[in-house]
Amino acid sequence: MNVPLVLTDFLDRAVDFYGEKKAIIDENRELTYNELNGRVNRLSRGMHSMGVKKGDHVAYLASNTIEMYEGFYAIYQLGAVMVPLNIRLKPEDYLFILNHSESKILFVDQDFYHLILPIKDKLETVEHIVVHYKENGTSELSYDEWLTGFSEAPFPRETLEENDIASLLYTSGTTGDPKGVMLTHRNNYLHAITTMHHLRVTDEDVLLHVLPMFHVNGWGSPFYYTANGATQIFLRKSSPKAIFDEIAEHNVSVVHMAPTVLNSLIQYFDEEQPERSDKLRVVIAGSAPPVAFVEKVEKEIGWEFVQVYGMTESSPLSTISRILPQYEHLPKEVKYELKAKAGTPMIGTKVKVVDELGEEVPHDGETVGEVIVRGNGVMKGYWKNEQATLQTVKDGWLHTGDVGHINEMGYLTITDRKKDIIISGGENISSIEVEGVLYDHPDILEAAVIAVPHEKWGETPHAYIVLRKDSTLTESEVIEFSRSKLAHFKAITSVTFIDELPKTASGKIQKVHLRTNYSDSTHIHK
Ligand code: ATP
Ligand code: MG
Repeated sequence: MNVPLVLTDFLDRAVDFYGEKKAIIDENRELTYNELNGRVNRLSRGMHSMGVKKGDHVAYLASNTIEMYEGFYAIYQLGAVMVPLNIRLKPEDYLFILNHSESKILFVDQDFYHLILPIKDKLETVEHIVVHYKENGTSELSYDEWLTGFSEAPFPRETLEENDIASLLYTSGTTGDPKGVMLTHRNNYLHAITTMHHLRVTDEDVLLHVLPMFHVNGWGSPFYYTANGATQIFLRKSSPKAIFDEIAEHNVSVVHMAPTVLNSLIQYFDEEQPERSDKLRVVIAGSAPPVAFVEKVEKEIGWEFVQVYGMTESSPLSTISRILPQYEHLPKEVKYELKAKAGTPMIGTKVKVVDELGEEVPHDGETVGEVIVRGNGVMKGYWKNEQATLQTVKDGWLHTGDVGHINEMGYLTITDRKKDIIISGGENISSIEVEGVLYDHPDILEAAVIAVPHEKWGETPHAYIVLRKDSTLTESEVIEFSRSKLAHFKAITSVTFIDELPKTASGKIQKVHLRTNYSDSTHIHK
């Protein structure tokens, strides 16, 4: 008989072998795996007392906290489904997701409760709202007091099948409305096993959570670090200084982060020259950085850099840019170039780049096509959107909507999202390539390039740029700089300087908002 792959296994293993080891450190507390497990059992009973049953949806709106972490495991003990909510949304977005996901209970960190108050009366399925009170400033019970009302003895678990849904995750909403992605226990279990292998996770690891746990990139880690009895550190707010301080104070060995955060760390490193810890063995980022960026992290700061590629719909990771053993002997410069790519497929995943007819394109490092992915991580489907599921997963292949190429060595490079490619005079221009060039300018802190209408060429690249403090760079200088580095048809033809780029909670630039901003200010290029 097959033993179903269910996520509760991971905490069980940590309790069996690492019970007295530090599991989680946050700003106020340190908990061992035994203590954490006791809280999880109490919470399962607390949820049970509110009527949570197998298959029910339980939503969480919280920063990276112990309360959120224990929520995952308590929910799984009940066979219920975790619905983590993005902390950077507006009340009406929460109303949409909570109703759309048919969530029955909402757990909310007190810092975010004010975002729920205005929509409280319009929630159609939520029966209880539990607020995580840090301290008991009201006549209500604090969350911790409420928990202690339940026994910490092992909770009698629901029987689960590995294809039962573990979580309903809404996509980042980078390209439009977020979609609810159904991931099963099997999806997440095999993803965790695969990732812990590729990242070489051990019980000696100390992980600093910088990515939000509600996002698919951040929340896989409670599984694979827990399974290995590693220590996890939660920060509510993460400034570059706080990140460097935590790394030094707790001997952090691994950090997963968005490239925009890594960018700000590099800037802080240059300006403040903070102590850097030798314990930090690897920094993992989910986006394509310029090669110079990888070189800087590895050579100057001394951290190994690894890029990963994935999406919510694939649990998320599909490829990793670690150097394969057969390429270890190559010169450092070549290895920096490989690490700046999305990488090679992880165990249990196949990746192809296909043309419009679905035929695989040659592995020559330049012929581009759509990236498609097949494997253990591919989602069960979009919640209540069968049509979108059928359009996205065909014959088991997930159509990512990302464009890229694979080189002779098998390394994938993501060149753009299908929706972000600029078609100028019939030529395809990768917005990421143009952004890469702009990032080489010392005065440019952040850049995003979008297609804007052009009378003659159809579309032309337009850059939104955030300058470093005190820079006096002008539009014509930026255009000239891009023309000096790129084929002229790829060079930007106009610029909007902006204080801050619109970003998703995981730090991705939302070009969809830049396009609206641009069309609202109706420029026409001639
Ligand atoms: P939505 O689907 O709602 O528009 P989203 O696609 O940003 O939002 P996520 O699932 O969080 O939501 O992000 C996955 C996407 O992030 C990928 O499809 C890809 O475009 C981008 N991405 C992830 N990793 C990389 C990488 N290493 N290099 C380039 N792009 C990446
Ligand atoms: Mg997407």
